[in-house]
Amino acid sequence: MANFVVQTSTKKGYKLDLQTGLFINNEFVAGAETIDVVNPAYGETICAVQAADKEQVDQAVDAAHKAFYGGWKEAAPQTRQKLMLKLADLMERDAEELAQIETLDNGKGISMSRNVDVPASISTIRYYAGYCDKIHGKVIDTPGSLSYTRHEAIGVVGCIIPWNFPLLMLAWKLGPALCTGNAIIVKSSELTPLSAIKIAALAKEAGFPPGVLNIITGYGPKAGDALARHTKVGKIAFTGSTLTGRHIMKAAAESNLKKVTLELGGKSPSIVFEDADLDQAIKWTHHGIYFNHGQCCCAGSRIYVQESIYDKFIAKFKEYAENTRVGDPEDETTFQGPQVSQTQYDRIMSYIETGKAEGATVFTGGERQGDKGYFIQPTVFTDVKQDMKIMQEEIFGPVVAIAKFKNLDDVIEKAHDTTYGLAASIHTTNVKTAIQVSNKLEAGTVWVNQHNVLHPETPFGGFRQSGFGRENGEYALENYLQVKCVKINIGADL
Ligand code: NAD
Repeated sequence: MANFVVQTSTKKGYKLDLQTGLFINNEFVAGAETIDVVNPAYGETICAVQAADKEQVDQAVDAAHKAFYGGWKEAAPQTRQKLMLKLADLMERDAEELAQIETLDNGKGISMSRNVDVPASISTIRYYAGYCDKIHGKVIDTPGSLSYTRHEAIGVVGCIIPWNFPLLMLAWKLGPALCTGNAIIVKSSELTPLSAIKIAALAKEAGFPPGVLNIITGYGPKAGDALARHTKVGKIAFTGSTLTGRHIMKAAAESNLKKVTLELGGKSPSIVFEDADLDQAIKWTHHGIYFNHGQCCCAGSRIYVQESIYDKFIAKFKEYAENTRVGDPEDETTFQGPQVSQTQYDRIMSYIETGKAEGATVFTGGERQGDKGYFIQPTVFTDVKQDMKIMQEEIFGPVVAIAKFKNLDDVIEKAHDTTYGLAASIHTTNVKTAIQVSNKLEAGTVWVNQHNVLHPETPFGGFRQSGFGRENGEYALENYLQVKCVKINIGADL
């Protein structure tokens, strides 16, 4: 029987054993077809992973169902906690390997994989391990009855994740779903499947019982859709585009009305007031858009600058953008690597062309960088009007639209003038402005004098068409629990 392990090494010579099978019932198994995995820095195929279709999705759901009703439902919280902590320890043991896989597969700079994605994923698992034995209901005072609530696992949960933070998005789902006692099936993105399958091997080593944690790779319209429609799945936790989010809701509605949470796209504004510390505002807004090559759902892809400092801001921002270290993700000094795929590259370049055609000014960038891989220069558009596509739509690349604003009312109106509401940042030294504006903004996260700063302890999620439900923090637990009320007669007999 095939063992589904492929040996390879990075350009710098780091040797890797890559798992490529579907992880169902604690075994690595074959799928219905395969998916080529491409290193985006070179445009070269690294390996092929197995891809699930409906049949393998059925097998994974059956495995989870059997695991949940065959003992996991009754497992002591301490059992879950021990397994989760063990998994986190194994991730720490193999942190360098995970970082190398993430960089090879997604193209993010190795420093970022090492210092952000991997440690943040480990912290998330540890954070939620701490909740395993702290999930409890309430006693409610009612005449004639003893009434109390139990917060119970949903049962079988399907998680569908994107490619921009393959490991971290996996941890954001695994953490709360497992600590609340569910059995789960995760479908990773077809563009970045490798780190999730490595986690599958670690989960097996940690000792999770068969079927509790299943990880499958597959195409969205096949494997993702089959999971979203499965009638034994009680909940789908989805992170991805708004378009796919609509499909998921529809699939849930047309099947068994499963619960759904959606973490979707964004077009987050960064608002720079005239009293901001200019150097800091430049650094944070730069980080806001170019971190992870612009492939962040909360990227600060629209910058509004108060008119009195606009010229100074854009001149300095341009200089800073031009000094962004774009290049080989295996190089430790790289800040911006390639976009994840040819398709994303083409999509972003087409937005750049649209921006030009609509009359915005390419202040810097706008071109391909290098002659292989999917690199795009950090791009700044100025003179961007509110109704232009590049100001309205999520580009998901290193492209920022900058415009002026007059005053607080003007900028709130502009900030709210998209369909999204995921995040926003305000840059000011005036605490009154910071609080007034953060109270007014319709966004799930508002940063003051920073951007893209996330912690496992704090909730993250969208207003409006950026989705619903919150990930991270205590708030995420309710996505994976259902409340039961038990009432015991302690009054008179009938
Ligand atoms: P996507 O919607 O194309 O894919 C996301 C996942 O859904 C993938 O696993 C894909 O295979 C699957 N999928 C695709 N079609 C499907 C279908 N018909 N049925 C079921 N599953 C399907 O998104 P993407 O391009 O992978 O990721 C980028 C998007 O994710 C951006 O819009 C970004 O803003 C968003 N995102 C949001 C957050 C957040 O927390 N709000 C975090 C990261 C990314």
